[in-house]
Amino acid sequence: MIRTVLMDYDSTIHDMDGVMERSLEGVLGYSGEELYRIWVYDVHRALIHTRYLERHDDAMFHCRLLFDQLRLPFDQKAAEEICAKFDEAKTKAQEDPIYYPDAIPALDSLREMGLNICLSTGFGAEAKAKTLERRTGKRYFTETFSETRLGVWKTEPEYYRKALSILGAKTSETVSVGDTPLSDIRPAKLVGIWTIWVNRNMEEKPSSPDQQPDYETRNLREAARIIKGID
Ligand SMILES: [Mg+2]
Repeated sequence: MIRTVLMDYDSTIHDMDGVMERSLEGVLGYSGEELYRIWVYDVHRALIHTRYLERHDDAMFHCRLLFDQLRLPFDQKAAEEICAKFDEAKTKAQEDPIYYPDAIPALDSLREMGLNICLSTGFGAEAKAKTLERRTGKRYFTETFSETRLGVWKTEPEYYRKALSILGAKTSETVSVGDTPLSDIRPAKLVGIWTIWVNRNMEEKPSSPDQQPDYETRNLREAARIIKGID
């Protein structure tokens, strides 16, 4: 039976993808959707996550790889513009987020089940939780975890070990819910936590066995139903 839910935020609760797609529209002559897709899949996941994890949050380094990927000469000014857009999006995620329509109803039903819901995100955990509380008038998260608080990347199993230790939670009674196999699934799975992959964009399943989730869903309402059914 699940008692604790570690809930990711960006692209799980808040529509970070939509924000970035609109923000990148027309940059380097690409549609926002296409450029963001290349950034996320061909640069961030295919290169940063596999070879340059220490540059995970280095937007300018991402830009260098992006220009290589697009076979364009590096353009400092355009790269700075792209970095500024990511910075703006990070601020927006904390101060002016766009919640997916299924997010709040799912959080409500998890709360009704009496579960301990914790925000588990990379950055800005406190601000993200406060904005959600201000918007809804409800306090959903009993704890907020970020890489700053825990002192490790969310891609590391240590992130989850530390969160469990603070909570005094058992692995068999805890589930990690999120959109990114490398930070929401793999490290949680390695410490023995249940995992639910929120695959909103119908991505292909990750090929690496350690990134394969226990469950896969389209949205958070479905995730809440799955959590209810875990023995
Ligand atoms: Mg995410």
